[in-house]
Formats: sequence, structure tokens, C-alpha cells
Amino acid sequence: MGRLAIVGGGVVGLAVGLALLDAGRSVILIDDDADGQAASWGNAGHIAVEQVEPLASLALLRSVPRRLFWRGGALDFPLSAMGAWLPFGLRLMAAARPARFRQGSDALRGLLAQAMPGWEALVDRIGEPGLLRRDGHYVLWQTAQSAKDGRVGWAAADTGTAQVHDVSVPELAQLSRLTGQPPAGAIRFSGSGQIADLSALRLALRAALVAGGGEIVGRNATLRRTGGRVEIPGIDADHVILCAGVRSRPLMEALGHKVPMIAERGYHIRADAADWPADLPPVVFEDRSMIVTRYRDTVQAASFVELNHVGAPADPRKWKRLERHVAELGLPIRGPFTRWMGCRPTLPDYLPAIGRSDRADNLYYAFGHQHLGLTLAPITAQLVTALVTGTAPKLSNSLFDIERFA
Ligand SMILES: Cc1cc2nc3c(=O)[nH]c(=O)nc-3n(C[C@H](O)[C@H](O)[C@H](O)COP(=O)(O)OP(=O)(O)OC[C@H]3O[C@@H](n4cnc5c(N)ncnc54)[C@H](O)[C@@H]3O)c2cc1C
Repeated sequence: MGRLAIVGGGVVGLAVGLALLDAGRSVILIDDDADGQAASWGNAGHIAVEQVEPLASLALLRSVPRRLFWRGGALDFPLSAMGAWLPFGLRLMAAARPARFRQGSDALRGLLAQAMPGWEALVDRIGEPGLLRRDGHYVLWQTAQSAKDGRVGWAAADTGTAQVHDVSVPELAQLSRLTGQPPAGAIRFSGSGQIADLSALRLALRAALVAGGGEIVGRNATLRRTGGRVEIPGIDADHVILCAGVRSRPLMEALGHKVPMIAERGYHIRADAADWPADLPPVVFEDRSMIVTRYRDTVQAASFVELNHVGAPADPRKWKRLERHVAELGLPIRGPFTRWMGCRPTLPDYLPAIGRSDRADNLYYAFGHQHLGLTLAPITAQLVTALVTGTAPKLSNSLFDIERFA
């Protein structure tokens, strides 16, 4: 097998590239995100091994009314994007049926069980073990009722390899200092983790790829089909691996694949980390659907699920809402804030697409990682490498084949 071209240098594409280099392949990666604005570098940094239950669920559907943006919640589907979210929503409802939900949970549980070992190996491989923090995360509630409901919900949930604990007295004291008063309830997860700094991760992954003999080309890639194969004009490669996040859809659909993926857009604000404890793991303020993550020099508050077109303008009300949450909670996060919006690549059953195309012999793909792309990047890279090299995969991946939507 000759050279492999990877389209997309987000965390999935970079992890795939490194794994293939380590399997002895020649790799060229094409990416057009010169400034690191992709979802991979603006997300919440959480290694979310506890999120075993796909969001395509009856519980999520029941909760939609109270989650709506105009009612103060985090879920928005703008009217102007009805053509995108209506067909997505109908497929999501079908995927939420109990039998499919159980199948999806089994598939995600298998992947997520490999997520932390995958990250441990990857940060060692790139010589940056300090980029992975294995300190779990906190979930906090502001009212007695939400704390009661939240605890019951997490106690009943399948959290995979993560465990839920009551917070200790010193932990509660530290959390109370954040808001100036004790929360109505708090739990701590162990087994989950965080990436200490996403910008540093990006640089380290790119540097390791180049040091390992890979090449990175900064430009937009198009796919052209010739006979039963694809090629990227201007790039000399035998095989193509598509890891282009939410923008994988048009490239796949031009080849005849059905890819009902939507841009699930999320927003963050970031500020100098001066007053936020350096050792505090990510904190989820569950009443406000907001996660606060401390990175090396910054602290970030992130939220929102906006089902929209990829290129629609950002909605500034969401950044203002985040600023309001921070102010109302009394958190020690002071502006000026930088503002960011990015797209989770989400398929209606909330499972990723990882496989080999049956439309073009030399095309593989790995996209659609929804809320879990950071978490799942290393195990995805292992699955893709097993497919490309013809070795036995650790996990069955037929559920991840994009033909499930054909
Ligand atoms: C607010 C928010 C919070 C999140 N929090 C978490 C979290 O805590 N934990 C977690 O696991 N996940 C989280 N996610 C989800 C996670 O960020 C995504 O699932 C993940 O980043 C997807 O990675 P990717 O590499 O597939 O895509 P992307 O990060 O979108 O990268 C795709 C890359 O491909 C490039 N590209 C696309 N098309 C082309 C082309 N034709 N030619 C050249 N280059 C191209 C793009 O420029 C980009 O660089 C969050 C997402 C958001 C929005």
C-alpha cells in the first residue's frame, strides 16, 4: 500500500495519522484550519467516558420542552434551519426507540471503555503525558429539586467505566468558594478526565506527525471519483481517509453516500484563568447546561446545542447568556472574554461513522463523533488503522458503518 491522504486535521484526523504512521504507513494530512478554530480545539476538554447513553433517547425527547433556548435552556433549533433539523429530528426519534437505544449504548460503552487507555497511550506517544489529567469531574446543582432529580438520574444512568461519588468535605468547601455559597448538591465522577490544554495538544499532535515522517499540507481538499476510486487533485496518494468533521457530509454525499449529519453548534467564552483554581477538574453546572474547564492559562465556560447549518452566522445571544450565567453564579471568571462557536458533527443515532466506503474502493472515513470526538479520537484511530491494515479490530464496528443510513 502506498501513501495515505487524510482529509482533516482535527483531533480525529491527527490521531488517525499518527496511528497509521506507527503502523508503518506513509501519511499526508490535508487541513485548511490554519488558526485552530475547529471543534477539536474549542471544546470542553472533557474525556467523557461516562456518556455511554446515546443522546438519541426517549429521555432526551421528553426533556426537549424544558431545554428550549427561549425558555432559558441550551437547546435551539432556529426556524431558518428547519430544512436541516426537521429530517434530522425525525431520524433521531426513530433512533431513540428502546431497542436501538440499547444497541447504541452497547456500541458506545465498548468504545468509551477504550477511551482512557487510548489517551494514556497517545499522550505518551507524543511525549506529553501531562496533557492528560485523570481527575474526574464535578456535577453541581443550584436548587434542591434539581439536585434530587439529578442525583436520581445519574444513579440510574449507565456511566461505563466512570463512577459517581458524594463530594468530600474539603471538595465541597472548594466548590462553595467558587460561587460564594454551598451548592444545593454536588457529585464527583472518577474515571473521567480532561485534556490540560487544547492548543498545546494541537501543537504536540502536529509536531509528532511531522517528526514521525508525516506531511501536513495547509489547504482545502476536494475528492474526485475516477472509476471505483477517489483521488484528491494535486495530492499523490493511493488511499484517502476522510476525517473532516461536520464537513465530511458534502464530500461523502458527492460520492453517493447518505450522510444525515447535522452541525450541532456549541459556544464558549474564555478568559484569563487568574482566579480559577488550577487543580480543579471540569465543573458541570447542570441546571444551566454549562461546563467550566480550566486550561493552562485560561478558563472556559461552554454550552448550547444549536441545530443549524454549518455556515450560518453565530448567534451573539448565546455568548451573552454564558456571560450572564457566569455573573449570576458569581464565578471568579472575569472578562475580557474571547468568544467561539464550533460544530459538533452529529449523526441522528449519536454514533460515529467509522468504516470503509463501498462506493470508492480506496476510501475510509471517521467522522460524526458528536459530543465525544475528543474522548474517542484515540480509539477511533485504532479502529481505522485496523481497517486499513487488515488486522482484526478490537471492537466490532459494523454499527458504525455509514451504510446504516442508506
Ligand atoms: C462546545 C463544544 C464542547 C465540546 N466538548 C467536548 C468534550 O468535552 N469532550 C469531547 O470528547 N468532545 C467534545 N466536543 C465534541 C468534539 O469537539 C468534536 O466531536 C470533535 O472535535 C470532532 O473532531 P473532528 O476531528 O472529527 O472534527 P473537527 O474538529 O471539526 O476537525 C475537522 C478538520 O477538518 C478540516 N476540514 C474539513 N473539510 C476539509 C477539507 N475539505 N479540506 C481540508 N480540511 C478540511 C477542518 O478545517 C478541521 O480542521 C465538544 C464540541 C463543542 C462544539
